[in-house]
Amino acid sequence: METSALDFLKEILETPSPSGYEQPVQNVVRRYVADFADEVSTDTHGNVIAAKNPAGPLRVMLAGHCDQIGLIVQHIDENGFLYTSAIGGWDPQQLVGQRLTVWTAGGPVVGVIARKPIHLLTDEERKQVPKLKDLWLDIGATDKEDAASVVRIGDPVTLQLGFQPMRNGLANAPAMDDKTGLWIVVEALRRAAAADLKCALYAVSTVQEEIGLRGARTSAHSVDPHVGIAVDVTHATDCPTINKNQEGDITLGGGPVIYRGPNNNPIVVERLIQTADQRKMSYQLGAVGRATPTDANALQVTRSGVPTALVSVPNRYMHSAVETISLDDIDRTADLLAEFALALNGDEDFTP
Ligand SMILES: [Zn+2]
Repeated sequence: METSALDFLKEILETPSPSGYEQPVQNVVRRYVADFADEVSTDTHGNVIAAKNPAGPLRVMLAGHCDQIGLIVQHIDENGFLYTSAIGGWDPQQLVGQRLTVWTAGGPVVGVIARKPIHLLTDEERKQVPKLKDLWLDIGATDKEDAASVVRIGDPVTLQLGFQPMRNGLANAPAMDDKTGLWIVVEALRRAAAADLKCALYAVSTVQEEIGLRGARTSAHSVDPHVGIAVDVTHATDCPTINKNQEGDITLGGGPVIYRGPNNNPIVVERLIQTADQRKMSYQLGAVGRATPTDANALQVTRSGVPTALVSVPNRYMHSAVETISLDDIDRTADLLAEFALALNGDEDFTP
């Protein structure tokens, strides 16, 4: 992976983007793609759409959602503690003991979420699972007035952001879901743009996936693609307590996961598999027998239907402070998508 590409990954991971508050990360994306895209636009929903060869006969849309789960400030109490509600799907246990950041108009304000120390918990309390409504965010304010002088109701909150490399090419950060997918679609565009591309290739940094696949719906309508590929994370099943019989055998470092099932057009899927086989790229197969909770769902039923595929990055500990991925996996996924696009002549028919 080139240094500039790795730097781009770190920058998007360190830039906040709770659903609906994606503007900071979209600024980073716009600046980065300007070097190799022929056209860059932002729609009124906030999606950033970067295109190479937009006049090409066959439009291929790659979608990676730039939004991340977060919290939103709901109430400031008399003592200056903040109460929040969720943006996206949280396990509140993942929040206890975390450092967080409130993204205010005046800049980032750090805070913590904890709970009573173990010494003070009753036997009953020790057995209880914390609920978000009972957790407060402590920014060190002296009282309500002090807190309200920096924080406004509706300000977004994220976990403390940051990228941490680990052994064997792994790395952890909050929001690997789906900054890795965003990175892959942008990187696939960059790699394909450097070669002889015959199709029109769109990399879309979609918004508001975590609250209902909303940006994929609006952006796919305007791009009107002939093929759509969503890139998201999926659960790696190679750590304790996950049942492979039910969840499949998905390994970190095993390569991109190509999904099969009703949310995937069989011809697009076979072409992806063929592309990987011909170039001797490792990949894994995943199966979902329903509409997936990803941008692929919205893409597939846009307008009169779009031949769609879902390609995923194995991720351990999804929706936590320590989402863990393999850098090799994201590198290979970007290659797979670039090669898929480069192999298209423009006269393909994906009607199943
Ligand atoms: Zn996601």
